[in-house]
Amino acid sequence: MATMQGVYLPGNSTVEFKDVPVPEPGPGQVLVKMKASSICGSDIRAIYREHLGKGPEAYQNVIAGHEPCGQIVKVGPNGKACKEGDRVVLYHISGCGCCEDCKHGYMISCRSPLRAAYGWQRDGGHADYLLAEENTCVKLPESLSYVDGALCACGFGTAYEALRRVGVSGRDRMLVTGLGPVGLAAAMLGKAMGARIVAGTDVSPGRLKLAEQLGLVENVLPADDDAYEKVMDLTGGRGCEVTIDCSAAPSARLLALRCTRQWGRCVYVGEGNDVTFDVSPLLIHPQITLYGSWVTSLYHLEELVELIDRWGIRPEETCTERLPLAEAAEAYDRADKAQTGKVCIVFDD
Ligand SMILES: [Zn+2]
Ligand SMILES: [Zn+2]
Repeated sequence: MATMQGVYLPGNSTVEFKDVPVPEPGPGQVLVKMKASSICGSDIRAIYREHLGKGPEAYQNVIAGHEPCGQIVKVGPNGKACKEGDRVVLYHISGCGCCEDCKHGYMISCRSPLRAAYGWQRDGGHADYLLAEENTCVKLPESLSYVDGALCACGFGTAYEALRRVGVSGRDRMLVTGLGPVGLAAAMLGKAMGARIVAGTDVSPGRLKLAEQLGLVENVLPADDDAYEKVMDLTGGRGCEVTIDCSAAPSARLLALRCTRQWGRCVYVGEGNDVTFDVSPLLIHPQITLYGSWVTSLYHLEELVELIDRWGIRPEETCTERLPLAEAAEAYDRADKAQTGKVCIVFDD
């Protein structure tokens, strides 16, 4: 039987390699040869350092990697839409298919025990092959690379969903707090949707420098005590019509809310942690709408890759680290240090 190496995360900031059989696709399934499989902040927060996750974030000792992108090499019996040779990005959760959330395409929110996310409860993309449900495959437009696709599977999808939900347009000025991979994605997509990305903040000098180099935000600001005044100065004292927190830091969430213009919209996507603020002066009196947004829907992922193709933007520009599977330990270490852009495991053809 053919075997392959898979990467597992035992939860003590190390990675483990195991030899496992190459899976065989059953009905409704496809076998995907992995081409790119990026690392998400959630992998670091909830799995790599220690197994913190519960429920949908509980790691079940499977092959890691929930941002998989590759090429279909085998279609199981009675395949409906996918064929051998298709380039696909995976919507990274397979839901029950029958509940209200699944019917809306938000398998992320499925609460059935049948729900399983790649890299969390079922094998993910850090191996040569991935066994995938056909209905979680989204075809990758020709103009996009496999790395572009991998980045859409969670990070760019999450940023897109949040911006779509708050209805970002050319009428908006935007502040992004947290310039990690999701923050950079929000800046790139927000700009493509017509907004002016007035400022982005971060505590990491490496990330501030990268954001500056990429030219995605007009002003790159250290997330310190002066940031609020600076954003106010940049917006004629009014604040931004849209603010998005991608950092999960309580201080950054507060900064995003304080920098939201009266009647504006603020959205939190950075996961974990908490925030405390005075509700009347910061939320109720300024008439602000505060959103939470978690990942995206299957259809919005499909819409996103189509739009990225039409807009001619390249998510992979935010990916500064590309390593082979054999160097997964180094890849996770770099992602954990949070000084770089996106980290992606890439595979030979
Ligand atoms: Zn993720
Ligand atoms: Zn469901």
